[in-house]
Amino acid sequence: QNQHAETQFAKDYVAEVYDLVIKRNPNEQEFHQAVKEVFDSLIPVLAANPKYREHGILERIVEPERVISFQVPWIDDHGTVQVNRGFRVQFNGALGPYKGGLRFHPSVNASIIKFLGFEQIFKNSLTGQPIGGGKGGSDFDPKGKSDKEIMRFTQSFMSELSKYIGPDVDVPAGDIGVGAREIGYMFGQYKKIRRAYEAGVLTGKGLNYGGSLARKEATGYGTIYFVEEMLRDAGLGFKGSTVVVSGSGNVSIYAIEKAYQLGAKVVACSDSSGYIYDEQGINLETVKRLKEIEGKRISDYVIDHPHAQYYPGCSGIWSIPCDIALPCATQNEIDEIAANLLVSNGVIAVGEGANMPSTLQAINIFHENKVLFGPAKAVNAGGVAVSALEMAQNSMRLSWTFEEVDTKLQEIMKEIYRNSINAAHEYNAPGNLVVGANIAGFTKVADAMIAQGVI
Ligand code: GLU
Repeated sequence: QNQHAETQFAKDYVAEVYDLVIKRNPNEQEFHQAVKEVFDSLIPVLAANPKYREHGILERIVEPERVISFQVPWIDDHGTVQVNRGFRVQFNGALGPYKGGLRFHPSVNASIIKFLGFEQIFKNSLTGQPIGGGKGGSDFDPKGKSDKEIMRFTQSFMSELSKYIGPDVDVPAGDIGVGAREIGYMFGQYKKIRRAYEAGVLTGKGLNYGGSLARKEATGYGTIYFVEEMLRDAGLGFKGSTVVVSGSGNVSIYAIEKAYQLGAKVVACSDSSGYIYDEQGINLETVKRLKEIEGKRISDYVIDHPHAQYYPGCSGIWSIPCDIALPCATQNEIDEIAANLLVSNGVIAVGEGANMPSTLQAINIFHENKVLFGPAKAVNAGGVAVSALEMAQNSMRLSWTFEEVDTKLQEIMKEIYRNSINAAHEYNAPGNLVVGANIAGFTKVADAMIAQGVI
C-alpha cells in the first residue's frame, strides 16, 4: 500500500517536471526524448528517496545552468561572408568542470545540443571521473569545405567560445564533424587569445601538444569493452560473431578495429549517404584510408573491393543479418522498423556507440525480445572518460603510455557495466541497463547537488 503511494508520488513528480520541460522547450523533440528516457527509469529511485523531490533535483537537472548562443561569421574561399550559429550548453557542473564535445553538423540546433548535454551529465557521472556535463557545436557543415575554410570557421567559433571556457571551467572536445584538425585550430586560437598555454582547455588534442595516447581509439574501443562485458555475463563473446557497425567516423573505425581483435567479423559500415556490405569482412585499412586520410565517401570502398556492395540510404544497413549491431552514426538511426528487422534476423546484442541512436520504441522492442541492450550513455562513455584522463595528464604535465591509458579505459568500462547492472538489480529491473545506467549516473550527480545546496 505504502509502496504504491510512493510510486504514484514519484510518477506525479516526473510528469510534472516533464510537462515543465515541454512548456519551456517547445518543439525540442530530441531533448524531450532524452529527458523521457531518463525520467521513466528514475521512478523507483524517486519513490524510495523523497529527498530528491524535496531538493527540487529534477527541476534543476533539466534546466541548463547556462546556455550560450552566438554568431560565427567567417569568409569562404569565394570571399563571401557566411554566418553560422554557435552553441555551448553548460548543463550541470555538480561533479566537475563542464565536459563534452562540439558537434559541427547542419542538423545542430538548440534541441540537439540540449539532448546531448543532458545525456552527457549522466554519462560523465558514470565514468567515475570528476567532470560535469556540457555540449556545444554549430550548424556549420564541414562537408566539402577546404582546409582554409575550416581554419577560418573554427578560429571565429573559438574567438567567441574562448570567453566561456577554461581548464577548470568548461572543457570541450570533438564530436561529429570535429576531429583532431579542428581541435588543433581551436587550441591555437584559444592560446593566442588567452596568452597562456592552458593545455587542459580542450581534449582530443594532437599527441605532440598535450593529447593523450588512446584518446582517438577510446570511444570505439570502450564500446567493444562494454559490449564484451554484456556478452560475457550471458556466456557469450565477440569471437566468431557477425557484426554490423553503422557510421565510418572515429567511433565506428575503432569499434571495428577492436571487434576484429576479439575475433569478430564486421560485414557492414556506412556514412550519411549509404552503406557497404562486404560478406568477407570489411577491410579496415581501406575504410581508414578513405575516411581518415582522403576524406572520401564510403561508396568508394567498392573500387578497391569490387566483390562488396554499396547501397545508397542509411536505414537499410539494419536489414543485414548479424549477431551484434553497433549503431555508431547518429541519433534516432534505429527506429521501430529497423529494430523489428534486427530482432527477426536474430540479433543477440545491440551496443549504442552513437548518442541516442535508438528511438524509445526501438529500445522497447529490444527489451521485449530479450536482446542484450547497452545504452549510449554507458556504452560510449569511454571517449569522455579518456578525455578526463587527458585532463589529468595535462594537470600533471606528463603523459601515460598507450597501455596505461588503455588499461584504465578497460577498468572504467567494466566498472560502468558493473555499477549499471547492480543499480538495475537494486531497483527491480534486473538486466535492464537503460534503467541501471540512468540510476547509477543520476544518484551521484543528485547527491552532489544536495550536498552543495541550492546555488
Ligand atoms: N563527444 C564525445 C561524447 O559524446 C566525447 C566528449 C569529450 O571527450 O569531452 O561523449
